[in-house]
Amino acid sequence: MGLYSVKSMCAVVEARRFTEEGWSVPQFLRPILPSKIALFLWQVQKNRIASKENLEQRGVVLENGASCIFCLSTTETVAHLFLHCPQIWMLWTAVLQREGIMWSIPESVSTLLAEWSLLRKNTSRILWELIPYALCWGIWMARNNVIFHDKLFDAEVIWESHVFLLFTWIRAWWKDCPYDASQFERGFSKIDLTAKVSVRPLIPWKPPQGTILKFNVDGSFQSGRAGIGGILRNSAREVIGEFSRKVEVKRADEAEVLAILYALLFGQQFMIVSVQIESDSSLAVDWVSETKNRPWNLSNELNMIDYLYPLVACCGVSHILREGNMEADELAKEGCSREVPIWKYVGQQG
Ligand SMILES: [Zn+2]
Repeated sequence: MGLYSVKSMCAVVEARRFTEEGWSVPQFLRPILPSKIALFLWQVQKNRIASKENLEQRGVVLENGASCIFCLSTTETVAHLFLHCPQIWMLWTAVLQREGIMWSIPESVSTLLAEWSLLRKNTSRILWELIPYALCWGIWMARNNVIFHDKLFDAEVIWESHVFLLFTWIRAWWKDCPYDASQFERGFSKIDLTAKVSVRPLIPWKPPQGTILKFNVDGSFQSGRAGIGGILRNSAREVIGEFSRKVEVKRADEAEVLAILYALLFGQQFMIVSVQIESDSSLAVDWVSETKNRPWNLSNELNMIDYLYPLVACCGVSHILREGNMEADELAKEGCSREVPIWKYVGQQG
């Protein structure tokens, strides 16, 4: 076998623009969709994947026959596997019910893809267009797990994997996406991607005014480890203090709240007053600024924040876009693996 990568293969396929039979990956999905998945769906709608029917037609003898592994009642063709199998059609129906529509079963995957965009009602356009990719990939993975890894078929697993894939793709594409996985699980009608789609100007960090100090903070959560970081600067852009440490939390938004709390603790310990806090987590900023809708599991931390807030004469906790919060972001990421925390106050020069 020669050198082969999905990327190079995709470049070849993309050069033909997927358009031989009128279907192509929409331009706006290309920055979001992993090329492996785009290629896979292209092969599915061209009936070029290794379905049991296709294997048999190539003369491959299948030890356990050519039946669909999900329903065991009929031959595994591409259309059956991805659409017509009763176990699978249930999943498409659930997607459409979530959207509030009724639809009759299309004859092929390419018909489905051709009609898909017309069916959208409530879901954000990009998210809607990604659904067939996520669902078909989930179906294929489940099918392979049953055949090759002796797993039992579970439609629930396919359902969850399509939600998780969509969440992962959106988060990889939109770093500041304010939605967490549980919001994706609850349904897509409240997920609005227009904020990301509209091109926004690059907003740099701005120094505070006069004698006010500014604390930029961030929380980081990666592969089970969490860290927080903060950097305190004055109107002359001088760094007067910083912290970076690991914390024991289970979710990214907990780390974001802790980063704000530690900034206030820092201020209290070094007797700093008139401090403004900036975080790139709009969720954490909302929880700190408003007492309603606070998550119960963070009530201790948020109560401490309420208590410390006036002690450091905090002039507000506000949201900043990630690109203006890079230093705090770095400190938080480093904090995840830091054995000895940084907790350093150097004071103002001059
Ligand atoms: Zn079946």
